[in-house]
Formats: sequence, structure tokens, C-alpha cells
Amino acid sequence: MYKRICVIEGDGIGPEVMAQAIKVLNTIAKKFNHNFEYVYRLAGGVAIDKTGKCLPNETLDSVLETDSTLLGAVGGNKWDNQPPENRPEKALLGIRKAMQVYANLRPQKLYAELDSPLKAEYVGDGIDIMIVRELVSGVYFGEHIQSIEDNQNVATDIMKYTESEISRVAKVAFELAKQRTGNLILVDKANVLATSKLWRKVVIDMSKDYPDVNLEFMYVDNCAMQLIKKPSKIDTILTENMFGDILSDEASSLIGSIGMSGSASLGDGTRGFYEAIHGSAPDIAGKDIANPIGMILSSSMMLRLSFGMTEEADCIDKAINQFIKSGYRTADIMQDGKKLVKCSEVGNLICGFIG
Ligand code: NAD
Repeated sequence: MYKRICVIEGDGIGPEVMAQAIKVLNTIAKKFNHNFEYVYRLAGGVAIDKTGKCLPNETLDSVLETDSTLLGAVGGNKWDNQPPENRPEKALLGIRKAMQVYANLRPQKLYAELDSPLKAEYVGDGIDIMIVRELVSGVYFGEHIQSIEDNQNVATDIMKYTESEISRVAKVAFELAKQRTGNLILVDKANVLATSKLWRKVVIDMSKDYPDVNLEFMYVDNCAMQLIKKPSKIDTILTENMFGDILSDEASSLIGSIGMSGSASLGDGTRGFYEAIHGSAPDIAGKDIANPIGMILSSSMMLRLSFGMTEEADCIDKAINQFIKSGYRTADIMQDGKKLVKCSEVGNLICGFIG
């Protein structure tokens, strides 16, 4: 199969983790006789430095005409003084909005061999959580207003949702929950927020079409607590943009490292946007110690969800399992007696397990 993939390496550790994912994709292409063409494009801080714009038109055109996009990470202190509309993170929001990838899937799985910072009694039967986060609406996309009232500075951020924005992402969550354990939790703040009340109404109405899905509700503050106290009791979470952003970072630390999580952002078609959930990690950039597994898992999700390459994706996931079972560890997930490897070695080792 021939596929064109837009590759945005970005800033900080972005190019380091991306290089490992590309090695793995090349090995898969060879093994399964596919032809992956990579279209390298700029976004984020590096794009500001080279073109003056955090999201050049050429990049936007490419994400909209290739089969899918992989992104490393963007951002860093160097660009903190950019005007709000040209900050590196704006590139991400711009791509997500242009692609209309409204459903962000963030699986958080604890590998049996790795340590969770939680005590074993809290980890219970293990952690395997799917967070479905709404990605192109809510407060991040609402109006951000600064004004002066009664002689003092005032700031307002608007959080707005429409029924259709809620139902399209809820459908993704119901379908996923059905394929998993059949348990779906809507996380909201319906005791306070009007948007949350609308989420509940829409999701309850939809639940009639999914009799095999057990729907529960949890306030976001309680969910933050339950993720720590009983993560093994949580399967699929559906939530709005900002709550999902925060909860998925929290959940990622339960599985050992933020470097272990991939993500997929999907819209109506098959084209998707795939990135690890971590940022550009300026504190470790250039040291060859970043964990690229989240980026490699994101590539596997791309093969599975956008290209329908199930066998190929399974092959990557199994190779990652073997890498971990064989005792290889990057610095962030290092344990006594295990083999410490550099970021640049991880791709080769995983390719070796693909065979
Ligand atoms: P971060 O995720 O970059 O780093 C948080 C911590 O996790 C750091 O200690 C870092 O060293 C560590 N870490 C992150 N990824 C790792 C990996 N793969 N392996 C090992 N350790 C890893 O979050 P931050 O420090 O808050 O943000 C840094 C920059 O990244 C900021 O400019 C922020 O805006 C940006 N950011 C970008 C994205 C994105 O591109 N999708 C997401 C989040 C943050």
C-alpha cells in the first residue's frame, strides 16, 4: 500500500523521538511491502525561527492533503515572548482545527513489567484506560478577552459547546467502550457548568442507542481522585477538551512516564493526527535520553486507525512488549537491574523485535 505521511518533528525532543518512529515505520514498510512517503514540514518554534510563522501555509496544506500526520512536539521557553497568535502551541490548535479532528484518543496502559508510582494495592488488577477527549472546541477555542472593569484588569475565557460537537465525539466513545469492557464514564462538572449539563443531556439521549454500554457519570474533581485511588476500575472516559487535557496527563504519570503514551486525533474521515502526549521537554532535549515509545505507539495507532493495517500495528505493539520484557529501559522508566538505553537505540531495538 502507498501512503503519504506528513511528518512534523517540531521542537525539543520532537525530532529525537520522531527519528525512532520513522525507523520503525520503515521496518514495517519493508516487512509488509508498503511504500510510505514522508513529507517533512515545519511547525512550532522551529517554524517561527525559519519562516516567522508558527504554522506556515505549506504545513497546513500538507496536513490536509496527505493520508495522515505525525507530530513530535512543539514549544519551549525560547518562544515564550511571541505574541499569543504566533506561539508554538497555536500551531497545534491550528492543525487540529483545520483537520477537524474532534476525537482525541489517549490510551493509558501500565505494562506489567513497569513500575507505577502508585502502591500495588492502588494499582489493583492493572491500569488500562482509554480517555476520549473532545479536541476542537470548548474553552481552548472560545474567546479569550482581556478588559478593564472598575479600574482593574479582568480576564474572561469562553467555554462553549454545541449539541453536534458533543454527539460526534460521544459516538466515538460509545463505540470504543463497546469494543472494550462496555463501561463508559462521562466526566464533567454538571453541578456547576452549563456546558456540562448539555453534555449530560446529549450523552444520556445517545445512551438509548447503546444498551450494551454501561454509562456512568463522574465529576472531574472526583475523577482526578479516582484515577489515583482506583485506576483499575476505570475503563473508558469521555470528557470535554480541558478536562481531558489535564486528566490524561495525570493518568499518564500512573503508567510510569508521560513518554509511554501515544495518541490519535480523528475526525469524520480516515485521515488522522498522531502525536505522543508529552511536550517538547526542553529540560532533556539534545541529551538522547527521551523515551520515544509514546511516539512509536502513535505511529502504530496511525497504521491501525487511519490505514486499516491491523497486522502491522499489532506487530509494532508486540515488538514494544518484547522490548520491555527483555529489560530495556530509557532513563524515565529505569528500574534496578535493567538495561539503560538511549533514545537513539530504542528504534533499532524495537525494529529488531519486528524482525
Ligand atoms: P513536557 O511534557 O514537555 O515535560 C514534562 C516533564 O516530562 C519534563 O520533566 C520532561 O523531561 C518529561 N518528559 C516529557 N516527555 C518525555 C519523554 N518522551 N521521555 C522522558 N521524559 C519526558 O511538558 P512541559 O515541560 O510542561 O512543556 C514543555 C513545552 O512543551 C512547553 O513549551 C509546552 O507548551 C509544550 N507542550 C507541547 C505539547 C505538544 O506539542 N503536543 C504538549 C504539551 C506541552
